[in-house]
Amino acid sequence: MFIGHFALGFAAKRATPRVPLVVLLAAPAFADLLWPVLLIFGVEQVAIEPGITKVTPLNLIHYPYSHSLLFLVIWGIAFAWLYQRISKQAEAFLVLSALVVSHWLLDFITHRPDMPLYPGSARYGLGLWNSVAGTVIVETAMFAVGVWIYARATRARDAVGRWSFVAFVAFLLIAYGANLTSPPPPSVPALYTLALIGTAILLVWAWWIERHREVR
Ligand SMILES: [Zn+2]
Repeated sequence: MFIGHFALGFAAKRATPRVPLVVLLAAPAFADLLWPVLLIFGVEQVAIEPGITKVTPLNLIHYPYSHSLLFLVIWGIAFAWLYQRISKQAEAFLVLSALVVSHWLLDFITHRPDMPLYPGSARYGLGLWNSVAGTVIVETAMFAVGVWIYARATRARDAVGRWSFVAFVAFLLIAYGANLTSPPPPSVPALYTLALIGTAILLVWAWWIERHREVR
């Protein structure tokens, strides 16, 4: 899943309005932030096999440290603990750790059976990615609700706050569409390079948006 993860981050603004959007988006996407780094170091493995699912050409061969349920629980606790230490906001602990772990559930729904419970376990997945229409409907509906909740929970302080947010949402939708329709990445290094650059842009952008918006 792609924009569906961000949907939960946007929606969480209502539950934890003091937590910055950049943190709320990084939490549910944490597995996919860690994943390209582990690919670079060869700790996790992926292969590009067009046709392996209708939506993605990725054969996610081995990714227990970024994507197993056990590790996402550990990362969730670590992420929430670190945020609590830095921000002194104890109330966000449960929401942030749940957001990190939510990645497993959403990927379990979308992926073919490649999601481990723990390193070396059997792997599970309901395979929503075998249907392009099903994937698009579920994910864009989630995204629309999440963005709507965020838009209601905050307001723009100036024009930058309004239009940077609108442009961010549009950019995510365009990137999502491009992801569905473009040819497979030419190589695994191209894949992780794009993932890292894309992530960096999105996180800086999310940070910038909230310099121009405030909680209602
Ligand atoms: Zn993932």
